[in-house]
Amino acid sequence: RADAARAAAFRPAVTTDGHRIEVAANVRHPEEALAAVAAGAEGTGLVRSEFLFDERSEPPGEDEQFDLYRRLAEGFGGLPVVLRTLDAGGDKPLRFVQHPVEANPFLGLRGLRLSLAQPGLFRTQVRAALRAARHGDLRIMLPMVDGLADLRAAKELIEAERAALNAPPVEIGIMVEVPSAAVMADQLAREADFFSIGTNDLTQYALAVDRLHPTLGARSDALDPAVLRLIDMTVTAAHARGRWVGVCGNMAADPMAAPILIGLGVDELSVSVPNVAALKAQIRGLSMARAEDVARAALGCGTAADVRGLPALRELVHG
Ligand code: PEP
Ligand code: MG
Repeated sequence: RADAARAAAFRPAVTTDGHRIEVAANVRHPEEALAAVAAGAEGTGLVRSEFLFDERSEPPGEDEQFDLYRRLAEGFGGLPVVLRTLDAGGDKPLRFVQHPVEANPFLGLRGLRLSLAQPGLFRTQVRAALRAARHGDLRIMLPMVDGLADLRAAKELIEAERAALNAPPVEIGIMVEVPSAAVMADQLAREADFFSIGTNDLTQYALAVDRLHPTLGARSDALDPAVLRLIDMTVTAAHARGRWVGVCGNMAADPMAAPILIGLGVDELSVSVPNVAALKAQIRGLSMARAEDVARAALGCGTAADVRGLPALRELVHG
């Protein structure tokens, strides 16, 4: 029985009508790689590299980072490893960086903006990632991209380091988690190799509800049609350029969201390790044709509650 369960975990997630969806795991540390692979994850769609930088008085050096990224790449044994560069600032300050005093840190110097403001820090991380990419299928993902200017600046820096190291090229993708990136997805898709939608932040910014807000939490539902329309725009624009799109926010693990995301054409879902097996099992029971119908109906709804109440969605999820 244990062998049968293991074999089922490793089977791909293919819908009843033959569409394969990649299911990956969100991880923080190389030690999670083995558990992720054992759970059936087909790689990692999001490595939150912040773990390396938290609670330290000095930033980690290039060799220390290289060692961890190499272990991640090796731990996933050739499966894709999407390493997100440092996503600090906002609610995640760093002890060794002088953050400006900001009235609205979530609208401030965070994610890629912080990396571009601290190019020494960014360069070190990029060099470590480029070196580790020789040990597996490692890709670089940039957080909090708000438009083409920062993407170009980041790519220029990465390319300079790549040339200096004489390293092979790596794919460079972006998180789509700021509404401007979703709106401009057609242009960003010309210059980014892939997209991963960060629905935690995308929901926060689209609905103007702080993701940590003590009382407004119930209003911040990623199934809000406003968020779904941004996801739809992103997927359409990416596919027109032949780019793949993942979702790595918490929404990907919501059983009510999975059919809609799949129906919108999302290629990959990345969830925490304990959610991998259940998500794969759910996808194996879904028909893409019905998921597309439900997604279309959801885009036409007026509120998140209306989406969650769609009879066709409830039937798909609860049978
Ligand atoms: C997101 O914003 O959805 C995301 C995956 O990134 P984080 O939760 O780390 O901000
Ligand atoms: Mg985010």
